[in-house]
Amino acid sequence: MTHAADLADRITEIVGPRGVLRRPGELVVYRSDGLPGYSKQPRLAVFPRTRDELVAVVRLLAEQSVPFVPRGAGTGLSGGALADDVVLVGLNRLTRILSIDPVERLAVVEPGVVNVALTRAATPYGLHYAPDPSSQAACTIGGNVAENAGGPHCLKYGVTLNHVRAVTAILPDGEIVRLGSAEGEVDGYDLLGAFIGSEGCFGIALDVTVRLSPNPQAIRTLLADFTSVDAAARATSEIIASGIVPAALEMMDGATIRAVEASIYAAGYPVDAEAILLIELDGLEAGLEADVARIERMCAAAGARSVRIARDESERARLWQGRKKAFGAMGRVSSHLVVQDAVIPRTRLPDVLAAIREIAERQRITVCNVFHAGDGNLHPNIGYDANNPDEQARVHAAMREIMSACVAAGGTITGEHGVGLDKLDYMSLIFSEDSLAAMCRLREVFDPDHRANPGKVVPVHSCREWHGAPKAAWTA
Ligand SMILES: Cc1cc2nc3c(=O)[nH]c(=O)nc-3n(C[C@H](O)[C@H](O)[C@H](O)COP(=O)(O)OP(=O)(O)OC[C@H]3O[C@@H](n4cnc5c(N)ncnc54)[C@H](O)[C@@H]3O)c2cc1C
Repeated sequence: MTHAADLADRITEIVGPRGVLRRPGELVVYRSDGLPGYSKQPRLAVFPRTRDELVAVVRLLAEQSVPFVPRGAGTGLSGGALADDVVLVGLNRLTRILSIDPVERLAVVEPGVVNVALTRAATPYGLHYAPDPSSQAACTIGGNVAENAGGPHCLKYGVTLNHVRAVTAILPDGEIVRLGSAEGEVDGYDLLGAFIGSEGCFGIALDVTVRLSPNPQAIRTLLADFTSVDAAARATSEIIASGIVPAALEMMDGATIRAVEASIYAAGYPVDAEAILLIELDGLEAGLEADVARIERMCAAAGARSVRIARDESERARLWQGRKKAFGAMGRVSSHLVVQDAVIPRTRLPDVLAAIREIAERQRITVCNVFHAGDGNLHPNIGYDANNPDEQARVHAAMREIMSACVAAGGTITGEHGVGLDKLDYMSLIFSEDSLAAMCRLREVFDPDHRANPGKVVPVHSCREWHGAPKAAWTA
């Protein structure tokens, strides 16, 4: 039995009194992540300031057999960084950039470094960190690794997995392991690849070695404006099929455009459009104009009313701000928001978007679409009132139907937000029981006692030898 107050006292000895939260009222903000539909009550939250403190805390939790959940900035969109009755290990005070090597183009960072802070630190060297989730002003590199995060520019440059060379991790039993290498060579099985995207279930990243990318010589940002989502989807398919690889190719539908334009993030999007494409091309100056002209022609042929090119960096930044803050802008529309995340083959965009419209009408819900069109990563956003049980039931029914439609189109249930709690029920849409059982066995290699982020990713019923998510035996 673990006595909560005694454990809190022992953790306080490690991290100091300002590094522990123990009263339920203080813990309220740690009950959810960026998906407010889930709420779980941690027993304690601890915020180490240094790697040594973090290691000492994890070893104490191992000694006491206490389950824990790592947490970065809490911007996750799958209900990942939360659980009942656990110790939440907050990593947001571990914010040191340990080194930047501009020659090797590598950086080593602590897990709580905010994504955009790394790019800012690399800017004087003409470098940047390429994966750019729309939440990059808040989310942490540790959280990006755990979710294998993507972002608009991952279409051309690849997702987190393609930019992480090595991770030093502490396993739930307190052992420290080095996965991957700064040189990029991996001997034996690719355990780094297994850790990236493991959603906090394999241990905690203590430091991360990432590749930095050179800033492109030239950039062109285009805004194409359409009177139908179908036309914008057709233009997307044409551009991808042409062989041009834009740095980013994002779509927003009419409802999203109007929410953004009514907010403080207004970007000058045409409010009477039913869809826009935000297309960015980058690379060497030579040849870029020819690609811009081809894209303008393809958009016009698909039915674009106009294609505008950002005149300068400030107009480009404004266009991107509208896109990256679109989820926030939807806060004006409804009290709760589900941001869904599925991937489909890009050629299926028009019919899957039509299927989503049909589902929304039948279930009497409002779906706004803002997504990474270039890589077929859909984000249907459903605004609703969680205090209305009937509406909530229709939202859940619609989400399952949307996921099933994406899977039926040859797609899958998550592109970048992870499984967390939100997609547990959908895992059986794409994996057999045997595959899920194999995932349980892999997880046991890292966490034989099932204490790291319990109850996430693999439905517990699939883990034949697990009898349920482990719980600490707390005494008051
Ligand atoms: C407005 C908005 C826009 C977004 N846009 C994108 C986008 O474009 N692309 C995208 O991929 N995602 C996006 N997201 C989702 C989210 O920002 C990412 O999943 C991000 O990677 C989460 O980082 P975080 O630091 O907030 O992690 P958290 O939410 O705190 O945690 C996420 C998961 O990572 C685990 N974890 C956190 N730190 C560590 C660590 N050091 N070691 C091991 N496990 C850890 C947690 O246990 C949890 O399972 C968006 C979210 C919002 C709110």
